[in-house]
Amino acid sequence: MIAWQGIETVLLDMDGTLLDKHFDDYFWEHFVPEIYATKNSISEREARKKLLDTYRAKEGTLDWTDLDYWSEQLGLDIPALKIKIDHLIQVHPYVIDFLKYLKDNRKPTYLVTNAHSKTLDIKMAKTSLSGYFTGIVCAEEIGMPKENPAFWAGLQEKIAFTAESTMLAEDTEKILFSAQSYGIKHLIYVARPSSQAPIKHSENFPSISYFNELIS
Ligand SMILES: [Mg+2]
Repeated sequence: MIAWQGIETVLLDMDGTLLDKHFDDYFWEHFVPEIYATKNSISEREARKKLLDTYRAKEGTLDWTDLDYWSEQLGLDIPALKIKIDHLIQVHPYVIDFLKYLKDNRKPTYLVTNAHSKTLDIKMAKTSLSGYFTGIVCAEEIGMPKENPAFWAGLQEKIAFTAESTMLAEDTEKILFSAQSYGIKHLIYVARPSSQAPIKHSENFPSISYFNELIS
């Protein structure tokens, strides 16, 4: 699937790609509504509906991943709540094998995430993955989310990569399209972002369920 001799740089998304998105889904769709309902004396069902509508309005923006924004909006300590259920932060199967493979083959590997720096800190502390990366870039450093095609030009000012010899793995198709429009050539869709959801292949990009499929 991947001709490794033509790849000079590897860009990897975090949530859903390397880490189980079940944590994020459970946190935002169940855990936060539960706490919010208790705090505001409304039913969990009511809280869930209200919050899902509120989230949807911010999807694909930097606010969506900004924990400080949500702490303020919801009147809850979001980072502290994340730590409460951090046992659900899990690395997907074969991710460590893949990261070791990249290291053994001397491929500069960057974690490139829309996640807020506070989320990143919680997840790296829990998973100990940070040592595998040449560098880590949060979208807030670029000032826009990865869905925006201008993101990649901003990224290129931070890290050196040549679009034609760069591979990007992502579980969000919209981001793969954004990277494609910038010229990033090797695009991989992660079809199993959550351990609790069915595998869903992309019709537009080569798909993998597990990273062992990219180890040759
Ligand atoms: Mg993702």
